[in-house]
Amino acid sequence: MTKLAIDGGTPVRSAMLPYARQCIDDDDLHAVEAVLKSNWLTTGPKVAEFEGAVARYTGAAEAVAVNTGTAALHAAMWAARIGPGDEVIVPAISFVASANCVLYVGATPVFADLSPDTLNIDPEDVLRKLTPRTKAILVVDFAGHPCDHDALRAIADKHGLIVIEDAAHSLGTTYKGKQVGALQDITTLSFHPVKQLTTGEGGMVLTNDAGIAKRVRSFRHHGIDVDLHARNKANSWEYDIVDLGFNYRLPDINCALGVSQLAKSDRWLERRRAIAGRYQEALRGVPMLQLPEQRADCISAWHLYVVRLNLDTITASRSQVFAALRAENIGVNVHYIPIPWMTHYANLGYKRGQQPVAEREYERVISLPMYPSMTDQDVADVVTAVLKVLGAYSS
Ligand SMILES: *Cc1c(COP(=O)(O)O)cnc(C)c1O
Repeated sequence: MTKLAIDGGTPVRSAMLPYARQCIDDDDLHAVEAVLKSNWLTTGPKVAEFEGAVARYTGAAEAVAVNTGTAALHAAMWAARIGPGDEVIVPAISFVASANCVLYVGATPVFADLSPDTLNIDPEDVLRKLTPRTKAILVVDFAGHPCDHDALRAIADKHGLIVIEDAAHSLGTTYKGKQVGALQDITTLSFHPVKQLTTGEGGMVLTNDAGIAKRVRSFRHHGIDVDLHARNKANSWEYDIVDLGFNYRLPDINCALGVSQLAKSDRWLERRRAIAGRYQEALRGVPMLQLPEQRADCISAWHLYVVRLNLDTITASRSQVFAALRAENIGVNVHYIPIPWMTHYANLGYKRGQQPVAEREYERVISLPMYPSMTDQDVADVVTAVLKVLGAYSS
């Protein structure tokens, strides 16, 4: 048995392999350069081009670009007319923006527990969390695996609720043969560098509802009633603020990057799936690990590759395994700390111990590196390091 790097041995890699990384090629650089040399840096032709390309890719009728995934969630909440007095059911584990957006509009997040296999929001627990104040369910396709969308849709239809899908992990995911993007009332995307494709920072709101799309367009632009291009065409200086909006616009520079990235995203998805397949092959049967599985009729976009430690088979804690893998220069991560555990939420009165599955599974998750430009050698290094560390700690 080779000595672990954390105990002074030689690390599997000489430099840290990150858990995620953007792919930027020359065509991306050219696309951005062309905008920088053009007349429009923001809100020009590239915005509509990017929106149109994402709408076509996902099958959503309407796509509205905004400057972060968080802004997309905020806009979705606002456009759905969620506000004070309303409750929105959200999964206990996600990136905090999935719950913060409910607070932004003055509504109350109500946390629901997860299904143990996918770590997605559990429709059974959503039913238990319904009250007369429930207005919407916010669902997250955790790690890129789709939620149980039909079950969630059925609950929403029966109780008159809106479903907002935070698809920050799941652009390119398919559920029962359908692309993520038009499965629920409103879908939001993020184009942060760790996501499926990047615009630096960026996000998008997708919907089949023209009224919602119109409200999001106004919200991202201060609540103005007409946009600049319509005004120019009408040769008029007049505008009115009809709602309190924000400046959430995504510049042309970023949209040009988005268009060029989207053209490559299917190739990247294929690579993510191939990497997941290699992990699955190499790590299947390791008793210290529970590997992520796909449900029937679901194809994950593999935003993350989240393994779970079978803690009763090892002599180390998750923290020790994590530190040992980092010492081997494998940039593992943890997704995510339960949101109700955060100080801001604790200060609002949320208690620990209310979501037994989420809180139990959180203690044993580790995300292995996953991004399309990982080489076969990178993937092999991760496998080597995982086997080395778990082998040393096996009980
Ligand atoms: C990344 C992410 C967001 C926020 O996106 P930003 O573009 O970083 O604002 C929201 N929800 C989930 C689940 C995410 O992973």
